[in-house]
Amino acid sequence: MAGESTARIGLLLPEVLGTYGDSGNATVLAKRLEWRGFEAEVVEVRLGEPVPSTLDIYLLGGGEDDAQALAADHLRKYPGVRRAVANGAVVLGVCAGLQLLGTRFRGTDNVVHEGLGLLDVRTEPGEKRAVAELVATALPPLDSEPLTGFENHLGQSRLGPSSEPLGKVVRGTGNGDGTEGAVTGNVLATYLHGPVLARNPALADLLLGRMLGYPLPPLELVEVAQLRHERLTAASGRRAR
Ligand code: GLN
Repeated sequence: MAGESTARIGLLLPEVLGTYGDSGNATVLAKRLEWRGFEAEVVEVRLGEPVPSTLDIYLLGGGEDDAQALAADHLRKYPGVRRAVANGAVVLGVCAGLQLLGTRFRGTDNVVHEGLGLLDVRTEPGEKRAVAELVATALPPLDSEPLTGFENHLGQSRLGPSSEPLGKVVRGTGNGDGTEGAVTGNVLATYLHGPVLARNPALADLLLGRMLGYPLPPLELVEVAQLRHERLTAASGRRAR
């Protein structure tokens, strides 16, 4: 968004891709910008509407298999996200969002669906649904703090050579092979709900830094630090103090 005054955050298809409060990721990004003196606008794109290619960040949340297939069809029909990524836009996908950003996914309908191909990821149903608190060590480009969130998915994802994992699983399932999430350039994805950006402010700031073209200094917020501490403690089975 170099030179533009207002950051435009695209919340894609929240009526089908918005489980577990994932739409809250848009609020977190807008607030973290506003707290630093930037202006931000959340642009909701709904089913049936074309997807603009001019937004700065695109957010895709989680959803059940049918909703995910519907969303993938929509985003292939209106290729705004693909075009925006070619121009350097930032994308965050969560769970169903991760799976449909990949090259292909198969759900419980047993049909192989084509994804957007923005991540080198293929997803197949696992044997058992992963429903748990998930903790992962963050890898570069986010190697500072552990990632935490809640996961609920059947799909297991395998990364090809053009994507790197976002983290290494400490507790929970993630992609299903010990890795968690995927990154290709400015397209990032994770299995973490929470919303993930409320629970992992470093990830929110990584996305914002990519959007602005320079890293943002940390924002010290007592409530956010407290929330992280509480959730990390709960995920490791201890009581928060
Ligand atoms: N439908 C996908 C799965 O179960 C994604 C679920 C989700 O987004 N929570 O694997």
